Amino acid sequence: MIYKTDYHIHTTYSDGREGPEACIAAAIKSGLSEIGFSDHLTPAAGHLKWSMDHDRLPEYAEQILRLKKQYPGIAVRMGIELDYIPGLEQETARIIEAFPFDYIIGSVHYLGDETVDLGPEFYTGKDINLIYENYFNLVCEAASTGFFDIMGHADLVRIHRFRPDSDITHLYSMMASAFEIHDVAFELNTNGRNKPLHDFYPDRKYLPLFAEHGVPVCVNSDAHYPERIGQFSDEAYELLRQTGYTEMAVFKDRERFMIPF
Ligand SMILES: [Zn+2]
Ligand SMILES: [Zn+2]
Repeated sequence: MIYKTDYHIHTTYSDGREGPEACIAAAIKSGLSEIGFSDHLTPAAGHLKWSMDHDRLPEYAEQILRLKKQYPGIAVRMGIELDYIPGLEQETARIIEAFPFDYIIGSVHYLGDETVDLGPEFYTGKDINLIYENYFNLVCEAASTGFFDIMGHADLVRIHRFRPDSDITHLYSMMASAFEIHDVAFELNTNGRNKPLHDFYPDRKYLPLFAEHGVPVCVNSDAHYPERIGQFSDEAYELLRQTGYTEMAVFKDRERFMIPF
């Protein structure tokens, strides 16, 4: 059995369906060696239904730290999925420094005030080439901040199947090279399979670019339900193997280690 991790999991602290303990039970059942929690948090204060309230962070941290001790049979990691929002660097730094996270997932969900993933309306009538360009630029900018260990669903703009009509290899090249330079990992996020996209993020066609640049990778489910923890992971590891990957990134206390698979 190979060593498997899943670092992108949502609980009732943000928009997941179950609490952390139900997720751990599901992770043990599916044979994971490590489970990492990464509830959504937007650095902007205020109440959004899919983000954790900032005042619940201490409780989140306390519970996960307690669960680490309670389940010796599986490594429990504490992460967070933080939105990258330009202009909120101070708030972002404050959150990251306040708790002993094992890793930080940096995600871009917003272009301006709008979210790119909630519905296809965001895309209709717009210049799709420009949306992709802006999105990829923002993800690269996020990688350059030093805040993040893993870049979340790096090409989320594919979610609703709107595609640029021109070749965008250069955007993936730029991204792979930015991830290499800024020393961040990326995730093969299997949750795109449950979305209109019906495939993983990032686009499998461009995975060899990430491998060529030596960008470390993890396989993550982005599960919002316990039954989706570790979902499609065998297929994801196999895809990475075919791409030339032989090891994956694991995290503890914000340090990265590589483990063969
Ligand atoms: Zn996300
Ligand atoms: Zn997520």
